Amino acid sequence: MLNALSIDVEEYFQAHAYEKVIARSTWDALPGRVVTNTRRLLALLAEHNTCATFFVLGWVADRHPDLVGEIAAAGHEVGSHGYAHELVYRQSRADFTADLARSLQAIRRATGDGHPVIGYRAPGFSVTDDSLWALEVLHTYGLRYDSSVQPIAAKDGAGLRGGKHVGVSGAARFAERRGKVWEFPVSTLRLAGRNWPVAGGGYFRLLPLWVTRGAIARINGEGHPAVVYLHPWELDADEPEVPHASRLARFRHRVNLDKTEARLRRLLAAHRFAPLRDVFASQLAA
Ligand SMILES: [Zn+2]
Repeated sequence: MLNALSIDVEEYFQAHAYEKVIARSTWDALPGRVVTNTRRLLALLAEHNTCATFFVLGWVADRHPDLVGEIAAAGHEVGSHGYAHELVYRQSRADFTADLARSLQAIRRATGDGHPVIGYRAPGFSVTDDSLWALEVLHTYGLRYDSSVQPIAAKDGAGLRGGKHVGVSGAARFAERRGKVWEFPVSTLRLAGRNWPVAGGGYFRLLPLWVTRGAIARINGEGHPAVVYLHPWELDADEPEVPHASRLARFRHRVNLDKTEARLRRLLAAHRFAPLRDVFASQLAA
């Protein structure tokens, strides 16, 4: 079965684990690593003849338009990860709308015409019970799908996210129509009465690979494609230390950075992956 692979393209210093110790105002002064890390990912995917969806942050697209052009030219899908990496539920509807519009402009400038953006991934999976209105805004801007809902109850959304509010109660674990857009949630495993978001990010780095592979096999066994996600910084074992970051933040962000690339290679060799727009083509055509 074809599974979906998605990459959230952002700088390591934009990750929410560091937001308390790295001020936004300093982002432009920090040496960026996203170009090198994303190119490593592009090379790795090319080696395995695999395309993915790259949800690009508008901030990155404005500063590195060539990189976004390379992603599109290599046949990958380019989606939006918003502009300034603000959590959706911390924004007003007007602010969210402005952030989305700005990201789409930046991406369009970078890719040129002929690469319509139809997918959105919120920073920190921050489409929650309180911010489902965001999906209406996506539709207004021509987006066809969202991949930002974690189908876990808000009260279960702590764990690696450091107690942050994530999840939508009662959300389906698989593709579902929500108003005028499709929701393609990142994969979860149903275990002990709870949905566990095992298929990406910190979980992919923390858990042994056989857990991820077993989860994908089980999801495929349920008749559905898995939706896996990663960030370019997760392959960067040489990421600079962030002074003053808490031990938890450091652990969440840095655990097994040196193992991700080898794991991803094994995953790409064992399962078939494609962009979300292709994996869910029949839903999007309906
Ligand atoms: Zn992000």
